[in-house]
Amino acid sequence: MGRVFVAGSINMDVVATADRHPKVGETVAGREVLYFPGGKGANQAVAASRLGAKTTLIGRLGRDAFGAELRAFLGAQGVDLGSVREANTHSGTAIITVAASDNTIVVIPGSNALVGADDVADVPLTKGDVAVSQFEIPLPTIAAFFQRARAAGATTVLNPAPAQKMSGELLALVDILVLNETELGYLAGAELSDGDEAAKIFAVARQLQARADQTICITLGKRGVLALAASEEFAVPGRAVKAVDTTGAGDCFVGALASQLADGVPLRAALAFANAAASISVQRMGAGPSMPTAAEVAAVLG
Ligand code: ADP
Repeated sequence: MGRVFVAGSINMDVVATADRHPKVGETVAGREVLYFPGGKGANQAVAASRLGAKTTLIGRLGRDAFGAELRAFLGAQGVDLGSVREANTHSGTAIITVAASDNTIVVIPGSNALVGADDVADVPLTKGDVAVSQFEIPLPTIAAFFQRARAAGATTVLNPAPAQKMSGELLALVDILVLNETELGYLAGAELSDGDEAAKIFAVARQLQARADQTICITLGKRGVLALAASEEFAVPGRAVKAVDTTGAGDCFVGALASQLADGVPLRAALAFANAAASISVQRMGAGPSMPTAAEVAAVLG
């Protein structure tokens, strides 16, 4: 069985709830403050680990109380933290204010901005492993990570979120690109809107495809996922569930997919598994704590 290596962000999400948002210069009394471990890298590593994959996270935490708390949380989820180093700054932090069902968010990358090529230089990747990353750490670091992974015979999985333009060189290092419709439209420079039919989405994905053997998976929320692979195009329909919180659905999907690929599961079955795992996560609150176990996914798949 291969291992999953995730190079990515680790954040503490600090959520303040209030009856209304303060105006500029104003102070309002809030109701409560909640702390949620987050960051796409951490969320995806937690998803893979809870599903049973041997998972190593590569990242940086600050020298602060959040750093210690995040390390404890991730360790308790079974994630190998041997490649999470300290940085001489604060941990990645998101300050979220929720009032009247609207939110405002300020994200400070902090230590995540300092994840560099040296952090991925000694990762023990071997054939059959899966290397996963997202766009919350510097892109040159991801390129260095994927170069090493491909040289070792590992499969590279990129979730280009939050979307930003990337070089053709980086895109060509990706074996499996996993992104939502909005991100696909942005990266391909195409107009896509919610509810577009599969044929149109596939056409846009084909424009973006950097190599004939590159797989592109487009997640469509409750509609499931479309996959454009070297020799086939197919859809995995969404599962009808009652969603209560879709935060982290994409992260659950990516972590679950990586766990299956590391187990040698073929693409179609791996996507069906990830689709089922993510459909469980949307029925629970939060990101990290909502990630399912392999037994829960197996129960859904029947
Ligand atoms: P992101 O959060 O990155 O925008 P999506 O919203 O496309 O990603 O969700 C990722 C995956 O999570 C979907 O492909 C699907 O498998 C699952 N999912 C998301 N929302 C729902 C939902 N309401 N019902 C069932 N599955 C869902």
